[in-house]
Amino acid sequence: VHDWGDALILPGLIDTHVHLPQLAYAGLGGQPLLQWLNEMTFPTEARFADASFAERASERFFSSLLAAGTTSAAVYLTVFEQAGDLAFQAAAASGIRAWMGKPLMDIRSPEALCESTAEALASMQRLIDRWHGVGLLRYVVTPRFALSCTPELMRQAGEMARHHQCLVQTHLAENLDEVAAIADAFPQSEHYTAVYRDHGLLDKALLAHCLHLDDAELGMIKHHHGCVVHCPASNRFLQSGVFDAARMRSAGIDWSLGSDVGAGYGPSMLKEMREAMETAKTSALFGRESSRMELRQALAAATRQGARALGMEQELGALEKGFQADFIVLDDAAVNEFAGSRLFQSPQERLQRVVYRENARAVQATWVAGRLRYSRH
Ligand SMILES: [Zn+2]
Repeated sequence: VHDWGDALILPGLIDTHVHLPQLAYAGLGGQPLLQWLNEMTFPTEARFADASFAERASERFFSSLLAAGTTSAAVYLTVFEQAGDLAFQAAAASGIRAWMGKPLMDIRSPEALCESTAEALASMQRLIDRWHGVGLLRYVVTPRFALSCTPELMRQAGEMARHHQCLVQTHLAENLDEVAAIADAFPQSEHYTAVYRDHGLLDKALLAHCLHLDDAELGMIKHHHGCVVHCPASNRFLQSGVFDAARMRSAGIDWSLGSDVGAGYGPSMLKEMREAMETAKTSALFGRESSRMELRQALAAATRQGARALGMEQELGALEKGFQADFIVLDDAAVNEFAGSRLFQSPQERLQRVVYRENARAVQATWVAGRLRYSRH
C-alpha cells in the first residue's frame, strides 16, 4: 500500500494521436501542414534509418510520455522496419500501453521514405507478427494519409487490419490544401472521407483532425463508427483550423484527444485538455456558443473517450472496480502558491489549476497496469 496523502489521483491519460519521430523538434517550425511536413518532418523521419538514433529517440519518447502522465498512446512510427522493432522494444521496456504502426508511404513521398507497395506491406506484416498483442502492445495499421498511399496499398492494408483485428489510424481533413490535393488525387471518391471508406479503412478508425468535413462526411464516419481525434494545440500551431466539438457531438460522433507531437509542441495531455477548452472558447467567440467545454468534459476526452477510441472502454479511462490500474498522481502544490490555505481548494479547482498552469511539473507518479513506471523523485 502506498499513501499519496492529499495528492490528486486521476485515471492515466490517453493520447490517441502522437508521432514518435517528431518529439525531437516539438515546438519548432509552425508552417502550414504540407510545408511543415517537407521542411521539418520528412528529413527528421529519414534519420530513423540509423538504428542507434532510432533507439535513443524511442527511449526518450516513451519516458517523456510517462513523465507527462500518459499511460496509453496511439503512435505513428517511421517507415523503417528496424526502427519499428526498436520502438516496440523501447515501449515494452518502458511499461507503457501502446498502439503503434509504421506510416504507409508508397507514392507522393520523399525518396528516403517512399517504399514499394510490396515492401510496405511485407514489413507491416512482419511487425504485426512480432508485436501485435505482445504484452501491452498492439499494432495499428497506419496509412499516413491518403496522399502518401496508392489505392492498392490502402486496399490491402484494410484487409490486413480486418484479418489481424488491428485498429486503423490516419489523418483526415487537417488542412485545406491537403483536402484540395486529395480531390485531385482521388477523383473517383466523392470526398476525402470516402477515400478511406472506398479502400476499406474507415471502420472504427482513429481519424486525426477532421477540421474540414461536410455533413455527408460526418454521417459516413458515424455509420462506420470512426473516432475523430481532436489535436487542439497542433491545429493552431500549423494554422490548420478550429475544431468544432459541439458539431461532432450533435452528429453523434465519438471523439478523443491527441497531442499530435511534434505539431502539438509537447506530450502533455493536461496541456491538450487546456487547449481543447481554449479552442472551444475561440469557437464560441465566432458564434458557435454551444462549443463551450467544461473541465470535466476535457478530462473525459483525455481518459474515457480515449479508452473508447481504442476499444478499451471496459478496462481503461476510469478508476473503477474491474478496470486496469492505470493512474497518475498529481502534486498540485508544485503549481499552487496557496496550497495549504483554504482558498480555491476543491478537487475541481485543484485540477483546473494544474491544467492551466505548469502542468508537467505536477505529475508526481505514473502507474500502468498496477506498476510504477515513472516517479518524479
Ligand atoms: Zn499527426
